[in-house]
Amino acid sequence: MIPSPSKQAYVPFVSVANMMKLVHALGIERVLRDLVEEIEADFLRWGEFDKTPRIASHSDVGVIELMPTSDGETYGFKYVNGHPSNTKAGLQTVTAFGLLADVATGYPLLLSEMTILTALRTAATSAMAAKWLAPKGATTMALIGNGAQAEFQALGFKAVCGITDVRLYDIDSEATRKCSANLAGRGLRVHACATAQEAIMGAQIITTVTADKLYATILTDNMVGEGVHINAVGGDCPGKTELHRDILLRSGIFVEYPPQTRIEGEIQQLDADYPVTELWQVIAGHATGRRDAKQITLFDSVGFAIEDFSALRYVRSKLQETGFFDTLDMIADPDDPRDLFGMLLRSQG
Ligand code: NAD
Repeated sequence: MIPSPSKQAYVPFVSVANMMKLVHALGIERVLRDLVEEIEADFLRWGEFDKTPRIASHSDVGVIELMPTSDGETYGFKYVNGHPSNTKAGLQTVTAFGLLADVATGYPLLLSEMTILTALRTAATSAMAAKWLAPKGATTMALIGNGAQAEFQALGFKAVCGITDVRLYDIDSEATRKCSANLAGRGLRVHACATAQEAIMGAQIITTVTADKLYATILTDNMVGEGVHINAVGGDCPGKTELHRDILLRSGIFVEYPPQTRIEGEIQQLDADYPVTELWQVIAGHATGRRDAKQITLFDSVGFAIEDFSALRYVRSKLQETGFFDTLDMIADPDDPRDLFGMLLRSQG
């Protein structure tokens, strides 16, 4: 049984092992589709959330961030890092964990690993944006950057947007080989490409999900033809972008939360008042998505706290039926709430 929030000495904890069991039990494509539904539902009630750009602590090699939000009933935050040079030491670029709490009591409701969950929610958010913005009938996606996030992105676009073909490119051919092998037998045609230029040939959707702690130019202006949708995932820190500025000037730009994206996203290359559209406004019918078949649409993804909140609530909603959690003795629970010290004394035995 999940402990009840009102008297909760034990907090449900979803470990990496249990997160993997949960995904296998439900099926990854179902999880990705479910997450799109959850995130969309929360984007539709955008006004109910506390919103703030994430709190970032930068170093020469990376960033550590806290991403909080609340809808007035439930509070959530994620701890996440981004260290592009980690992979050289056999460590991941991105790792994360997160927590939900009951606003009424402040008691934690859930602690969860979020490294896998971040990859799932990022792919779901990308696919959700493409559902609203990509050209109709898109079947082929270029996937540039074939690291930890890549397969999740490919499967998200298959499950939600009906993509049948992915064209892979990475500066490290070993990453492309890994990605091709992992996607084998998943119902996608996978093409390994030798250059980014080759990868985008015939693609209606271009996903960039590379990691570098500097301004990189994964796509130049001449590579991007009219009518494509660009899903730019890798540029998510000050000084870290993937697209040439000229591409931005030709695109309709869609973002999660402008105050955060202006600091971290591709649009840090533009003036602070350059017009962008908030994705939630498109989903809610308050703003136009793709204007016409020739427009280049760009989802300037950086990852926003509400997406993590939606993902954590989704995981919590599945615990009872799957049982894939442990309980943590995380909250002191004296019989008399004011007798914390007495509880300590009695525990001495
Ligand atoms: P990763 O280090 O596992 O993989 C990155 C891949 O990019 C590597 O295989 C690397 O060889 C490749 N690469 C680097 N430069 C390249 C280039 N010029 N051309 C082609 N490939 C190149 O990292 P990851 O976990 O897959 O994350 C990728 C990026 O996505 C990171 O920058 C991360 O911060 C970002 N990210 C964004 C969100 C979001 O919500 N927007 C969420 C998670 C991760």
